[in-house]
Amino acid sequence: MADILDGKRIRDEILRECAPRVEALKAHKRAPGLAVVLAGNHAASEIYVRNKVKACAELGMYSEKLTPPESVTTAEMLEIVDRLNAREDIDGVLVQLPLPKQVDTQQVLLRVAAEKDVDGFHPLNLGYLMTNRPGPRPCTPSGVMQLLKRYGIAVAGRNAVVVGRSDIVGKPMAMLLLHENATVTICHSRTADLAAVCRTADILIVAMGRPAFITEDFIKPGAVVVDVGINRVTDRTVAERIFGPSSAELASFDQKGGLVVGDVHPLHVREKASAYTPVPGGVGPLTIAMLMVNTIEAAERRLR
Ligand code: NDP
Repeated sequence: MADILDGKRIRDEILRECAPRVEALKAHKRAPGLAVVLAGNHAASEIYVRNKVKACAELGMYSEKLTPPESVTTAEMLEIVDRLNAREDIDGVLVQLPLPKQVDTQQVLLRVAAEKDVDGFHPLNLGYLMTNRPGPRPCTPSGVMQLLKRYGIAVAGRNAVVVGRSDIVGKPMAMLLLHENATVTICHSRTADLAAVCRTADILIVAMGRPAFITEDFIKPGAVVVDVGINRVTDRTVAERIFGPSSAELASFDQKGGLVVGDVHPLHVREKASAYTPVPGGVGPLTIAMLMVNTIEAAERRLR
């Protein structure tokens, strides 16, 4: 049976380390400030933003939520970002994605000042990531690196396979692993024989958005498996196929009308891996912790 890599424990550890840095900034000048722009109505985004605001409050940081309506235009979003860029008391500006469909997402993200870009999405910061210079790193992949590091999982010299090549997870994940001297392979929907490539992985990191796609034949025995996927399953037949007809998970599905699963098959990974991240409770909690770290670092750079 594989070990569980507990994201909540690592999150708590990281947040504990944040607390004195926030106190020091307050004593020096003021608390770090994060502004989150949540445009339109998107149920999942509302939950994410609520959790971000709550994490700020728990650390004694200042946060502000801006909620332009679903009908917001690109010009209006740019104006909101410009105002936040100009504010002295705001160190981090986060534009929650996805934006309403009429808004030009790239243009809005590009407008966030590089020094307030706590998501690490600005091209300047991506350049720093590429060249391994200091700067904010995208939160989810940097959370994964913290998890590996704090569990003492060696990365250097090992084969790491990243499934998914999105700008926010897959690509930066691969770059961070490369900087820690892993031999990195990036896979995507056009990869030939994905299972065979995944079986070469000592460290397999999956960010596809496909519930329980990575089954036992994708996992090398003894691999470390990190599951970034967060998928809400609302089809009972899918839940039954994953967990079996008389499972506790299916009973929970029947009670709640849905459940959250990762991209990795939750039963197979326990049998094949040496260690793995559960969903929920694995990578998810780390993303917010790293957002707090990025915001504190932005404040430290601006205030000192
Ligand atoms: P995207 O949809 O942007 O990217 C998915 C990637 O997976 C693409 O590169 C795609 O390939 C690849 N892919 C999809 N299907 C297959 C397939 N059958 N075979 C091989 N590759 C495939 O997703 P994100 O990167 O934004 O997110 C991935 C998952 O991680 C989602 O479940 C999301 O909810 C979750 N997530 C979790 C976070 C957390 O905090 N834990 C934060 C962010 C995301 P191609 O490029 O060829 O289309």
